[in-house]
Amino acid sequence: MQPRIVIAGAGVVGASIGAELAEAGADVTVIDAGRPGRGTSSATFAWINASADKEPTAYHELNVAAMDAHRRLAQRTRPATWYHPAANLQWADAADDLARLTKKVERRRELDYPVEWVSRRRLADLEPDLDPGDVADDRIARFPEEGWIDTPVLVATQLQRLRAVGGHLLTGTAVEALEVDAGAVTGVVAGADRLPVDVVINCAGPEADGVASLAGVELPLRTSAGLIVTTGPAVTSLASVVHAPRLHLRPEGGGRLMLASAAADAGVQAGYTVARDVVAELLADAARLLPAAGDLDAEDVRVGVRPLPPDGLPMLGPTGGVDNLYHVVTHSGVLLSVRLGELVTRHLLSGEEPPDFGLYRIDDPARFAPSPTAI
Ligand SMILES: Cc1cc2nc3c(=O)[nH]c(=O)nc-3n(C[C@H](O)[C@H](O)[C@H](O)COP(=O)(O)OP(=O)(O)OC[C@H]3O[C@@H](n4cnc5c(N)ncnc54)[C@H](O)[C@@H]3O)c2cc1C
Repeated sequence: MQPRIVIAGAGVVGASIGAELAEAGADVTVIDAGRPGRGTSSATFAWINASADKEPTAYHELNVAAMDAHRRLAQRTRPATWYHPAANLQWADAADDLARLTKKVERRRELDYPVEWVSRRRLADLEPDLDPGDVADDRIARFPEEGWIDTPVLVATQLQRLRAVGGHLLTGTAVEALEVDAGAVTGVVAGADRLPVDVVINCAGPEADGVASLAGVELPLRTSAGLIVTTGPAVTSLASVVHAPRLHLRPEGGGRLMLASAAADAGVQAGYTVARDVVAELLADAARLLPAAGDLDAEDVRVGVRPLPPDGLPMLGPTGGVDNLYHVVTHSGVLLSVRLGELVTRHLLSGEEPPDFGLYRIDDPARFAPSPTAI
């Protein structure tokens, strides 16, 4: 008999794991407290890359494998309207930032990760609408094989895969209780339903600690809010993902642009509210970077809450003595989702541990132990 698996959370992580498990023959039910993909997965920059700080090397390799997993899934699920391969352009305007960028480019070269320096003239050929301002010539880094994901469309694709093979989706119903007997979850209570289970997978993103606590398990989870602004349709041919010194932007489909920045994240206030001037500043920075687009307006302003394992690496597997409650909580969840779906499925159904699992397992006693106080 195939294992009965309940997944708490239909964000990009839960939906992707559900689709893989169901296609591999498991009896899967995905439950979401709200609507699928409307948590953090709807307020994300959704950049797929292995060029941001992805250390140690094993984690870089997981990120590269994750980019490949998107590519493979896109080939299998045509038309893959969620998948947008694109180059990523990045430059710096201060000497220490340029030193950091140079180090990053050198490190990616060591790792055989595709990257090149391009000149202002080449940039003008590639992206004629972009004005990078005062930037050293030949010091614009171009990572040609990255891209972005239309995350709600990926979530829908994964849930369609789940349903096509008989998997179930319950929405608008929270996992409210986990029945635990002798260190194992035996049942999941969601609204009027009580589902008997062999395995529960906790994919509740920033609320994963709440789901864990239903079984008396403590997760060392942090969260961090971020701001995503989507413009109205803009007159521009921009096709790349751009990491300029004060602004991150990319195309968002329908002629729209997506804008984000570290300063805008810092402007998210208590209660997840955002002052108008924070949005206005993002729009002004984008207009300076894309003068040809003229004035830009904000069509959508969203605050997303990142689930953040304290050391920045994914948290996988059971912990706290409840062995069939498997947690999958991660930052960079859009990028990692499809690959984690593959790895978790193999782990649960054939017992094959994901590569470098030791780095990611939550129950490694050394991983989140407080560091010894220096004497
Ligand atoms: C501003 C910002 C920028 C980002 N940029 C990137 C990026 O460029 N690239 C990248 O890869 N990642 C990025 N991320 C991170 C990425 O978006 C997240 O890692 C990812 O969306 C997490 O997905 P998830 O499925 O784990 O969580 P979510 O999408 O939050 O899904 C969790 C789901 O669980 C449900 N839930 C909660 N509690 C319960 C319960 N008790 N019962 C049932 N359901 C429950 C919620 O309703 C929700 O739908 C960014 C995040 C932010 C905020």
